[in-house]
Amino acid sequence: MTTAAPTPGTADLPPGRRLGQLADLPVTVLRGVGSAAAADLAELGITSVLDLVTHYPRRYIDGTRMVTIDKLAEGEKATVLATVRRVGAPPSRPGRGRRAPSRVQLDIVDDGGRMRVVFFNQAWRSRQLPTGTLALFFGPVTSFRGDLQMANPTVEVLRGADESATADDGPSGGRIYPVYPLTEKASLTSARIGRLVHEALDRAGVFADPVDGDVRDRLGLLDRTAAFAGIHRPRAMGEVEPARRRLAFDELLRLQLALVLRRQRLHEDARGIIHVTSRPDGRTLVEQFIGGLPFPLTGAQARAVADLAGDLGDPLPMHRLLQGDVGSGKTVVAVAAMLFGVEGGHQGALMAPTEVLAEQHAAEVRRLVEGLSVPDPGTLAGERPVRVALLTSRTGAAERATVHEGLAAGTVDLLVGTHALLTDKVVFASLGVVVIDEQHRFGVEQRAALRDKGRGEDGRGSDPDLLVMTATPIPRTAAMVVFGDLDMTVIDELPPGRQPVATDWLRTPLETEEAWSRVREQVASGHRAFVVCPLVEGSDRVEAASATAEAERLAAHELTGLRVGLLHGQMKPADKEQAMEAFRSGDLDVLVATTVIEVGVDVPESSVMVIEDADRFGIAQLHQLRGRVGRGGEPAWCFLLSESDSPEATARLEAMERSTDGFVLADVDLGLRGEGTILGARQKGRSDLKLARLLSDRDLVVDARALAVDLVGADPHLDEHRLLAQELRLFVDDDEAEFLFKS
Ligand code: ADP
Ligand code: MG
Repeated sequence: MTTAAPTPGTADLPPGRRLGQLADLPVTVLRGVGSAAAADLAELGITSVLDLVTHYPRRYIDGTRMVTIDKLAEGEKATVLATVRRVGAPPSRPGRGRRAPSRVQLDIVDDGGRMRVVFFNQAWRSRQLPTGTLALFFGPVTSFRGDLQMANPTVEVLRGADESATADDGPSGGRIYPVYPLTEKASLTSARIGRLVHEALDRAGVFADPVDGDVRDRLGLLDRTAAFAGIHRPRAMGEVEPARRRLAFDELLRLQLALVLRRQRLHEDARGIIHVTSRPDGRTLVEQFIGGLPFPLTGAQARAVADLAGDLGDPLPMHRLLQGDVGSGKTVVAVAAMLFGVEGGHQGALMAPTEVLAEQHAAEVRRLVEGLSVPDPGTLAGERPVRVALLTSRTGAAERATVHEGLAAGTVDLLVGTHALLTDKVVFASLGVVVIDEQHRFGVEQRAALRDKGRGEDGRGSDPDLLVMTATPIPRTAAMVVFGDLDMTVIDELPPGRQPVATDWLRTPLETEEAWSRVREQVASGHRAFVVCPLVEGSDRVEAASATAEAERLAAHELTGLRVGLLHGQMKPADKEQAMEAFRSGDLDVLVATTVIEVGVDVPESSVMVIEDADRFGIAQLHQLRGRVGRGGEPAWCFLLSESDSPEATARLEAMERSTDGFVLADVDLGLRGEGTILGARQKGRSDLKLARLLSDRDLVVDARALAVDLVGADPHLDEHRLLAQELRLFVDDDEAEFLFKS
């Protein structure tokens, strides 16, 4: 090789193999991978060598700790790593009345000896396990005519009969076998994938490491070469976890870099509004608003409002997440945010995920801003009341036109609606602050749409400030991952006088009687109760019908004599409002409802929440529903009715019994459901989190976040960290990359 001048633009890349190079190599460069094997690998989503080396083992079998056949005893459950020696399907004996089950019988051998394995009604096992196959057999050891055997064990094929063993690959080698995720379709074995990965890693050699040695040392992370070796070919089980942590860190670092860069870009070309957050006379709208509330703010609410004031008085547009438990008083904070905007003559918008919620929010916001005025030189008094408008798909044409007009003219100050606010032909005179009451569904596109709304049709307006609220808390580290491009404020305090809601899971009809007798008792003492009907598969209509039937049944039986009302999604808006109003005012004792009541209903007299078929709901939803009662400072009850004994339902319902703290429940939920659901829709592009676990890798999330913030802070376009920049491009989609790296 001649000593050529360094290629322009690559001079500062560290030496070693780069992931980008592996991404450019198709798997067919590997030995023995022809079109058939390539098609099998494609079934697993593996087309490049990078895909292959990031196809991580699902688990490991520690061959060093396997019991050999001679050490087995009857009656125990055992795992045996052995080779198939003989396969037979002895003819089932005729003439025994009913047809005998099919039977496949194997002899398997390991270093300790030989044993019989039988499968009943699994004729395909003879094809799966031909002589010479190395597999793991797991099952109960029984004896048959004096000999030990295993019947219907679980099987994991490690090496096919036609695959030759490699030097480090024999059952007696005492090595560790990675078990790779496979699909039924592809005729691949773990051993085959393992060999391909070995070849890829051997040929890749030493990897370039995007994380500097001193940072790795500080964070206790392996170098990348060691990490790939440790995860794919560990020599001892103890090597696996450090390797996983290092590779998980890379995943989290890429994700955090994308989020931090995204925020950086938004700031760079931002045209924010400097809102008026204080006045010499101390009489800002927000101060009047807070002063006029029937209660003092909690300390946490006051801190949240101070955070907002800081953001809003700053020229950069706010991008803040407000987290708080159910009932912690986020609405008041949201209204304060919008009023900061109105103070300077701008408008505020509040977006809710559903129409019902938007309607409820509108009513609440109207109530909260009652009595507040803004200057209006056109009137005699020189001011007019703060005006709130509601816009949903149910808004009639005439009303809609009026609202549109008011928004364009600036005579509507606060707009409440669904996400449709962004796509509708809604033109604001000057949109100042947007609050999104979201259920993790507000994506990047909507963020862009929002900005366009603020800039207006001529593109000359400013970028509105944004406050995102979670309906229920999500764990802090999960929030860092999902909302890592936002600043965060947590309301970690409930208004005083709240009583924890006594929660009971009732499992049988007999136990359920406790719920109804509590309802009767509470109604007798002047309180009210909610009954939430099961979610019904099928249409809204089916669900409505079932709620109707349940209301009738309860009125006729368990709750006879009580005034039972009904609320479901199929009712006309006016009827819904009427039912709500009757319940609010006390004309109804019990409201039987589908989950439309989930959020926002505020009836302080309600003290009992009965949730039927509670196993059908997720923890967040149950917690929301429970948050509807116990708001009046008096004792309250929540009854979860469910006969389910599934482990997941049990875990959820027991967690609900144990805790009323939304942050605690959020952790439980994350542990139960895994990260996928939380990351969900919001995470764009190729989901890169294969190894990272949000719950147990909290420290890695925090470290990755801190490193990303440092790196981007010092090098906003990653010009000095080109390897990282390149890797990031590999894992985000093209649009995102273009946005993150535009200069
Ligand atoms: P969430 O955070 O669940 O949206 P809300 O904003 O709906 O909570 O508030 C729940 C209830 O608490 C409402 O009835 C509200 O009026 C009341 N509330 C809010 N802040 C306070 C406070 N500082 N003191 C007493 N009650 C409050
Ligand atoms: Mg709320």
